Amino acid sequence: MRAGRILGRIEFDELISELKRRNVVIAGLQLPDGLKYKSTEIIDKIEKAGFRIFLSGSSSFGACDIDTFLLEEVDVLIHIGHTKLLKKNNIIYVPYFVDYSIPRDLNLKEKNLALISTVQYAWKLPEVKKYLEKIGYRIELKKGDRTKFPGQVLGCNYSPIKNSNADAILFIGDGLFHPLGAAIYSQKKVYRYNPLSREFEEVKPDKFTIKRNMILGKVMHSTKRGAILVSSKPGQKRIRLAESLKEKANEAGKKVDILMTDEITPYKLSNFPYGFYVNTACPRISYDDTDLFSVPIITPPEFETLLGLRKWEDYKMDEINDVS
Ligand code: SF4
Repeated sequence: MRAGRILGRIEFDELISELKRRNVVIAGLQLPDGLKYKSTEIIDKIEKAGFRIFLSGSSSFGACDIDTFLLEEVDVLIHIGHTKLLKKNNIIYVPYFVDYSIPRDLNLKEKNLALISTVQYAWKLPEVKKYLEKIGYRIELKKGDRTKFPGQVLGCNYSPIKNSNADAILFIGDGLFHPLGAAIYSQKKVYRYNPLSREFEEVKPDKFTIKRNMILGKVMHSTKRGAILVSSKPGQKRIRLAESLKEKANEAGKKVDILMTDEITPYKLSNFPYGFYVNTACPRISYDDTDLFSVPIITPPEFETLLGLRKWEDYKMDEINDVS
């Protein structure tokens, strides 16, 4: 398999103009793990334009994950790799674009497709749409609630395919999590085109749902008390949801505590006596990181199933539409 063309791009000219426009003296810089190796290169470019930089050592898993301590020490925080999510004026979101070749040899039986992608690739979806329409497909490309580009999804939000009329979904991007989520969210067939490897496949969510079923089974048989996790990260802090889940649990005769922390890691939870956790923070912790934890971590909709408030057949991905 021939590798695709990988060219990462940050719009530095736009960023520098914005820093000048705001009369910034000192800026914070926050990078996702995949771009931390570029920190020196990025700092050099910004400092050369006359600005001072404080680099964040915190995680940056998404646009929701802001280094709030650094934010207080600087004029603005430059948050690289994601598009705007939080409505805070002192954060400048700077996406990282990956260029790629459009899939030219698609021959799908479904001719009515919805296009989705993640931030790195979504900027090029209008061009992909144009090409696919030229070769006979009907393409749906809608903007979601918490994202900037049409078709851009998050691991916690699939609103671009809400009420989709398409016969199938075409996801463009690397990684399996988003297309799996899209398949469960939409209940439609999902294809994935990986622009880096140029691999194309139909994504089947069966293994994922079987695994979630097994995890829920473990929680059902747990005799220990559980806790509802709340993250202090601004874009994933769902305190009201945690309180309402606790209330529902009380009504069902199940005692749970509310546990608040910044980062949710196995280390942070290691000394607590709980038999399971309900995670109201980033849904990817429950789905992607579940094997790292010694006790099951379930999502709010899964907890509702456990409490008898939702049928397993109505399995729902956990989505963040709002935080409060
Ligand atoms: Fe991404 Fe998770 Fe944040 Fe949603 S909550 S934006 S999936 S890191």
